[in-house]
Amino acid sequence: DGAAASASTRQFLLEKESELRVEVGSEAPLRVRLAAGSAEVFGAELPPEKWMTVPPLQNVAIFTWRGATIVLDGTSEVEYVADETPMVSYVNVHAILDARRVSANSNSSQFWPTNYFIFQGPRTIVVGPADSGKTSLCRLLLNWACRRSWKPTFVDLDIGQGSISIPGCIAASSVETPMDSFGGIPTEMPVVYFYGHTSASANAELYKVLMKELAQTLERRFSCFSEYEAAGMVINTMGWVDGLGYELLLQAINLFNANVVLVLGQEKLFSMLRDVLKSKPHIDIVKLHKSGGVVHRDQNVHQNCRSYRIREYYHGIKNNLSPYSFSMNFGEINVYRIGDGPQAPPSALPIGAEPASDPTRVVVVNIMPDLIHAILAISFAKEPDQIMSSNIAGFLFVSEIDFDSKRITFLSPCPGELPSKLLISGSLKWSENPKF
Ligand code: ADP
Ligand code: MG
Repeated sequence: DGAAASASTRQFLLEKESELRVEVGSEAPLRVRLAAGSAEVFGAELPPEKWMTVPPLQNVAIFTWRGATIVLDGTSEVEYVADETPMVSYVNVHAILDARRVSANSNSSQFWPTNYFIFQGPRTIVVGPADSGKTSLCRLLLNWACRRSWKPTFVDLDIGQGSISIPGCIAASSVETPMDSFGGIPTEMPVVYFYGHTSASANAELYKVLMKELAQTLERRFSCFSEYEAAGMVINTMGWVDGLGYELLLQAINLFNANVVLVLGQEKLFSMLRDVLKSKPHIDIVKLHKSGGVVHRDQNVHQNCRSYRIREYYHGIKNNLSPYSFSMNFGEINVYRIGDGPQAPPSALPIGAEPASDPTRVVVVNIMPDLIHAILAISFAKEPDQIMSSNIAGFLFVSEIDFDSKRITFLSPCPGELPSKLLISGSLKWSENPKF
């Protein structure tokens, strides 16, 4: 129990409402097969009698409501069965959200609603410290909603990990097909904004501006498509819950008009939010237990997960894609950065002058050696001043810069012409490490 395993095939008999927890290291692969009964992985049903591969660095729970037999094959770091889980409380939340979707849906088909809010579906925001199971709870709620044929919108505000796009972005997408148990979240035409850093403190003003842009875009989409409006949102947040991080959470609740706040694993955050939200009775705030299965990941693991996520972008989840390499002349592209960067020290300024820095100014970036290994976003903007309000087409990796011939070499997931020559840089970097 609880030990690493790499022996031959092994079988687990799961009682009802229990789960098999498996932690896969970088020494994958590990394969899973449902031999009897029924089971789900963060809300996505396991297909019967089919070997499924768990990608490296994933920690998963294979949960059963009614009992199941699970077979594992391959290498893992930890595997054990747990019969104490918060799943019943989570599914109760799902049931309440579901009822609200039903009522929003039936109200929206009436002709002249007298109150807009009666056809607004649940907009759920999941908050809590790092490693409290936020992303996993979002997956559960999205999968359960999707299996009931709703099209919930997933909003990912966690720039540290990035489940919809890559790290450094905030993004949203409707989820319309149930997820693959061990794959990414299948998202349809995501709206992606590039923030460019993996920490919100790097440029909190920009983070706010982008949240606002995203919220407005979704509001427009919801007003055109009542099925999205009725299904509502599931909003994932970052684990920064004090100081400025807390302020940003309040902003998110506000900007996205969240009406359900789920607080995972922290009493203090719950009571702070409850006090602050007292004046807004239309917002329900619910405290939920963190699952004992949530795996703590240190800075190093977080960094590896980030790199792995970017690797997936170029090479595919199952390592089934090959990125394209091409080079361009410096003059063929325009690189920008958002924010003035480090402000001038007061001593460098004329006496009496305030250090001026504009965190949302769009600044031209010259191609310098520090761009090597940077991830650049390809903006759909036509002009630099539209950068902040424009969706992102994709990402380029700067693999080489030759200053003699003034050529820059990129890795791109797609062949052919770039959809735009307007690129955005931040502090996000990656290296094509053979493992990740
Ligand atoms: P957060 O988003 O709050 O940082 P996550 O949902 O990403 O937390 O969970 C942290 C890690 O724990 C992830 O690797 C996730 O897959 C894993 N995990 C979450 N719940 C379970 C569980 N019940 N059993 C095993 N692993 C879990
Ligand atoms: Mg998370």
